[in-house]
Amino acid sequence: MTFADLGLSDELLRAVTESGYDTPTPIQAQAIPSVLMMRDIIGIAQTGTGKTASFVLPMIDILAHGRSRARMPRSLILEPTRELAAQVAENFEKYGKYHKLSMALLIGGVSMGDQLAALEKGVDVLIATPGRLMDLFGRGKIMLNGCSMLVIDEADRMLDMGFIPDIEEICTKLPAQRQTLLFSATMPPVIKKLADKFLSNPKSIEVARPASASINITQRLVKVDSRKKRDTLSKMLREADVTSAVIFCNRKTTVRDLNKSLQRDGFKSGEIHGDIDQGSRIAELERFRAGTVNILVASDVAARGLDIKGVSHVFNYDAPWHPDDYVHRIGRTGRAGASGVAYTFVTEADAEAIDNIQKLIGTKIEVVGAAQAIASAEPVEEAAPRAPRGRKPRAAKPVVETPVAEEPAAEKPRAARPPRAQTSREEAPARPAVAPRAEAPARQRRNDHQDDGPDEGWNGPVPEFLNFGFDA
Ligand code: AMP
Repeated sequence: MTFADLGLSDELLRAVTESGYDTPTPIQAQAIPSVLMMRDIIGIAQTGTGKTASFVLPMIDILAHGRSRARMPRSLILEPTRELAAQVAENFEKYGKYHKLSMALLIGGVSMGDQLAALEKGVDVLIATPGRLMDLFGRGKIMLNGCSMLVIDEADRMLDMGFIPDIEEICTKLPAQRQTLLFSATMPPVIKKLADKFLSNPKSIEVARPASASINITQRLVKVDSRKKRDTLSKMLREADVTSAVIFCNRKTTVRDLNKSLQRDGFKSGEIHGDIDQGSRIAELERFRAGTVNILVASDVAARGLDIKGVSHVFNYDAPWHPDDYVHRIGRTGRAGASGVAYTFVTEADAEAIDNIQKLIGTKIEVVGAAQAIASAEPVEEAAPRAPRGRKPRAAKPVVETPVAEEPAAEKPRAARPPRAQTSREEAPARPAVAPRAEAPARQRRNDHQDDGPDEGWNGPVPEFLNFGFDA
């Protein structure tokens, strides 16, 4: 199957080819023809499956004809975080370059004035986080009754972040006669109910989780004594075939300490976590992208959703408490067809967490000792010439394909919403008892986003990638 078989316009096919893609991913192959036929869709797919293009491509063709009016967007894409919203906007830029569609991004942290000006001109595509959208809607700055197409992306993450009431309200503001596409990595009952209520005769498409399906990520559990984690890591970074690595820790303090320790040992490493302001985080990611550092120590929240090509290794320095975080973490490697290796350090205390992870991905991960892990990992195919080890600068640079440069900071909780838990998961003093994702109560499941950086206002210039030409 090729993209040409899906019913897309020649202009789109050109843009897709120029993006370097020739074969649609399963979600694209299944969704695109149905979206073009104006069907509602429930897509059970997560990032990494190519799901963004599965709605962006047909939307561009559907919206190709028709005109936008002031303050009345013709389509709306809801994203849980501004980082994901920016990533989707990037996709529109990339695939829509031969169309004359206008787009606006409504997200926290970017000047409201520019966003309002864009809306005032009229937009074909509005990409928004629910909080900022509701805010502007409440102030009469935006009308949704001209929106004939709605995408609710990452619905389960919306649930985690407490956005479902907002989404329900937004749905009631849109015309009943519309096309609705809902994407979610999982289908907890609340999301199912949402779909039942707001979608009409949807086609359900389910694609495998990239983590479980991904044969190009070699996964290993590395048995390690908790006191020997640092030594083991240093050894593995030197001896395994590491060109570039993201190292995940459960707490911000661990991220900081580990980065310092790696730097002391001569590694070229950087760190991102929620206590680092956005400007610095962008700069840090830029250093990683440029190859100035080849190791990035990260918290879950700060690194989620990053689309970085060429990351050869993911290290879970701490086994993640939440099984879905495991899937997100290891998905930072093995991207875009390349292979990658994911090592998870496990101590005795991690037994339950590992059990939950294996249940979620539906497979047992091979357990090895550190030395064995180094010896047994598959070589990384696409990554560049063999990595210089340890202290030497590396040859390959990771390529940041989409310029995501900040954490998925949640919008500020709206006044009507019950307050979220006050403790930060990253700084939690003790390991919380965590049930597998499907069973965990929504509001308790995730409180990590709230402490992770300021919600409004970039601490630095608005990055280039958010300065789209609104009339592109
Ligand atoms: P997504 O699941 O939308 O976040 O996409 C994951 C990654 O796959 C992104 O880097 C996309 O650019 C890339 N991608 C999207 N469609 C394709 C395709 N048909 N072939 C190869 N890579 C793709």
